[in-house]
Amino acid sequence: MYKFLTSHMGINPQVASFVAETEAELAALFAKADEIAAVNHLKVLYAMQMARLSDSHFNDSTGYGYHDEGREVLEKIFANIFHAEAALVRPQIISGTHALAAALFGNLRPGDVLFSPVGKPYDTLESVIGIRTAPGSLAEYGIIYRQAELLENGDFDFNTINAILDEQPKMVTIQRSKGYSWRKSFAPQEIFELIKCIRSRSPHTIILVDNCYGEFVSADEPIEADLLAGSLIKNPGGGIAPGGGYIVGKKKYVEAAAERLTAPGLGSAVGPTLGLTRTFLQGLFFAPQVVSAAVKGAILTAAVFSKLGFDVNPGVSDLRSDIVQAIKLGTPENVQAFCRGIQKAAPVDSFVTPEPAPMPGYAHGVIMAGGTFVQGSSIELSADAPMREPYIVYFQGGLTAPHSQAGVVFALQELFNEGRVSL
Ligand SMILES: *Cc1c(COP(=O)(O)O)cnc(C)c1O
Repeated sequence: MYKFLTSHMGINPQVASFVAETEAELAALFAKADEIAAVNHLKVLYAMQMARLSDSHFNDSTGYGYHDEGREVLEKIFANIFHAEAALVRPQIISGTHALAAALFGNLRPGDVLFSPVGKPYDTLESVIGIRTAPGSLAEYGIIYRQAELLENGDFDFNTINAILDEQPKMVTIQRSKGYSWRKSFAPQEIFELIKCIRSRSPHTIILVDNCYGEFVSADEPIEADLLAGSLIKNPGGGIAPGGGYIVGKKKYVEAAAERLTAPGLGSAVGPTLGLTRTFLQGLFFAPQVVSAAVKGAILTAAVFSKLGFDVNPGVSDLRSDIVQAIKLGTPENVQAFCRGIQKAAPVDSFVTPEPAPMPGYAHGVIMAGGTFVQGSSIELSADAPMREPYIVYFQGGLTAPHSQAGVVFALQELFNEGRVSL
């Protein structure tokens, strides 16, 4: 692979051998990722068999989408994978933000308290909640938001959390992935510890986990929550789903989210699959393997850039709970060079240069590299960075391990070209 990169793709031999040597040290970590992928793949296979998935389920529905058997089986499969009573898996869910918004708006009422015990949520949730003023936010509907910061070392601050739980919040939202922040991503086991604390202190609180980027990274999922939500153009769509999102969990809470997603009285009974059922299922079938490819690229990125003296999060051999690799590059020029490299490694639009731009739902300009088959898909090789101090780039994805690894090579090449790193 590295030979082809130098002979055909303009990569400097020094860059290629630096990455190749680094990769050779990672065999044990890659084997672990393969093992997790194998378990998760069987979990998906088993769920499909248990639901008696059949050819006839690939027929589509249009219009209202009443009695869509394929949709019902698709949702049964998702419910099985997440040990949930019910699931909504719909092309009408536009994104992870939309899935989370439906779960929140469907289950909260004026005067209720929503609590995040893991610090500030993902950027796009700020306008949903109303942390950042936005028309139609939860805040405008009279929902009160409370937040506990994480401790300096990234752990939960149980003193503050317990004090807020004593207010018996209606809902708690727990973000598994770091998103665009420099903290650790929580493993399902750590989320379980937090959930145990919430249940004992405030037993009627509805617990929602933002599972974006986390699916299939570990051998288990944070299934103890009442609701989990995520995007199909991240992990569980396997790079095949052209859009969509999912919400899984306890039936009454999933149904409440559905009433918001469609309309009160209609709920989950409507929603045409528009010919996407087979595509969603095929993507789900590949997803564990695709996620492990992305994880390998993330591990390699961490190893390469930490060797070069940059701070990386997570560290090379840290336990991973999402596919995101953060690298503190320190300057806007480094971030732009890195993103240019990722763009050059893409199968689509490899010839364009990414520039920072304003994005709906984000407070800062964001630079996004990703020549993807599905617009904005970040299970595909991509890198994003909000253009703010201390200039952290977030690398994720790659539908295959060689592609994710080639991304690292191209990113390093750009930094090397400008003399920003010495090998
Ligand atoms: C991506 C992401 C979201 C939002 O998902 P979109 O599909 O981009 O709307 C929410 N939370 C986390 C942790 C994410 O990574």
